[in-house]
Amino acid sequence: MTNILVGGVETFRAVDFPGKLAAVLFLQGCPWRCPFCYNTDLQLIGKKTDFVWEKFIDFLIRRQGRLDAVVFSGGEPLVQEGLQEAMYQVKKLGFQIGLHTGGYRPHKLAEVLPLVDWIGLDIKAPFEEKRYAEVTQTNHLKEVLQSLEMILASGKDFECRTTCDPRLLTKTDLQKMAEDLYAKGVRKYFLQKYRPIPSDTQTTDSDCENILSDSQLLEYLQTHFEEFEVRK
Ligand code: SF4
Repeated sequence: MTNILVGGVETFRAVDFPGKLAAVLFLQGCPWRCPFCYNTDLQLIGKKTDFVWEKFIDFLIRRQGRLDAVVFSGGEPLVQEGLQEAMYQVKKLGFQIGLHTGGYRPHKLAEVLPLVDWIGLDIKAPFEEKRYAEVTQTNHLKEVLQSLEMILASGKDFECRTTCDPRLLTKTDLQKMAEDLYAKGVRKYFLQKYRPIPSDTQTTDSDCENILSDSQLLEYLQTHFEEFEVRK
């Protein structure tokens, strides 16, 4: 019995692990409180779900040869005590492992990193304690930076990505974040357009586009990063 809580699953996705067809597990529980969250149901840590891990393993056995990978997404996968065991079981079946994380809990990341083939690391705000706390409503910048250093040192394939919510970030913030990430050694960086959550009746589509249309920022990103894209 694996000690892991899964809030949802997509059995066949082509966009969550670059170049791979993957099943995606949305793990229950998240310490972050991003104001742009579409998955608030996944936030409560420890909430029981009716997902049966053993059935998922049976599903994977039937998909061997037809699916490349399993992505552990969230929520925040690093809150799960059974993450390493779950990844180990999936890896043993021959699937690659993707991890989506905000970099919470570096000690947990260190545990699973040897099993992980690709990481999508969310960078939520400029690297300043006050700003990171404002955006995530938690205080984990130190852990994010440790996780980033660990991923860089591991040599694993990874990307950083930022949701560009104009209520929280400015073009100047994005420029600073890009410069800081590049200086640290990040070479794949993706900006994600914010889609206003249902309770946000103020932010317009042009606000969301505008923050992504700074020519100086775009030029910087295009000329510095090996892989860069605005995801809409
Ligand atoms: S990390 Fe994801 S699930 Fe957690 S609050 Fe932020 S957007 Fe929501």
